[in-house]
Amino acid sequence: MTSSMPAPRVNPLQRLWLREIGIEKTWLKEDEAAKPRAAAAVSAEAPVAPAGGRPAQARAESPARPDAAPARKDDAAAPQAQPRPPRVLVAKAPEPAAAREADPELLARVARADLGALKEMVTACTACGLCQGRRHAVFGMGATAPRWMVVGEAPGEQEDRQGLPFVGRSGQLLDAMLASVGMSRERDVFIANVIKCRPPGNRNPTPEEIAACSPYLMRQIALLKPERILVLGRFAAQTLLNTDATIGSLRGRVHTIEADNRAIPVVVSYHPAYLLRSPSEKARSWQDLRLAASL
Ligand code: URA
Repeated sequence: MTSSMPAPRVNPLQRLWLREIGIEKTWLKEDEAAKPRAAAAVSAEAPVAPAGGRPAQARAESPARPDAAPARKDDAAAPQAQPRPPRVLVAKAPEPAAAREADPELLARVARADLGALKEMVTACTACGLCQGRRHAVFGMGATAPRWMVVGEAPGEQEDRQGLPFVGRSGQLLDAMLASVGMSRERDVFIANVIKCRPPGNRNPTPEEIAACSPYLMRQIALLKPERILVLGRFAAQTLLNTDATIGSLRGRVHTIEADNRAIPVVVSYHPAYLLRSPSEKARSWQDLRLAASL
């Protein structure tokens, strides 16, 4: 960096985290190059992405899952081009189809529950077969008045053992990524999953399991009222946004979902388990975090 270049906009702590997640050099270089383009992209003329989406469908394959050994199609589908600057396009997502299809009695109880009651319901839930194999249902953890909500897919083995979300290797990476934008899981963020019980062998959840479980997530969102939601991985993004679009097409713009008559901005990014297998994508994921932080 020459003396004529402006100082990079990172504080020493952020720089440490950027180094920790292996993108310090990439980001410091890209940040300078991206400034004029990013500013243009946030102009009033930014196009609005089409609202709506197709009904939620069974996933043909899973997004990156922790301790799922084989690389999934998600990896192959991830674009290989150079990272783009964030574009701010806003698309309103329809209500998840799965939530509309859930058992009406369960929906009514969920709709009345406060956070404590909801946690008890999740802990005791027998709405689908996943309850039979779980050690713990994983309700979620974090701030009770969070700035961000982070939504992942489903508990893996460690999460099932401990009853907490993102506590394995991908959780460590998630914490590092959050810290790189000044967020901490205890102070600023509430972390939850679409599915609260571990699918055996980390298989993909079925549409019935999604239908049974997603009302809990929607109620968590309504109660916690996060300023924004960061959705990690294709499965969570497709479920929450009610679409079967690829993660590549969902990234890089701001979606919104309705919760309790509020529109909440949603940013989609890669699942940390995928990033562990494809570290070169961390730079894109850092862009997503910056987009979320910039809202
Ligand atoms: N992966 C997820 O999607 N959620 C977790 O809680 C852990 C790993």
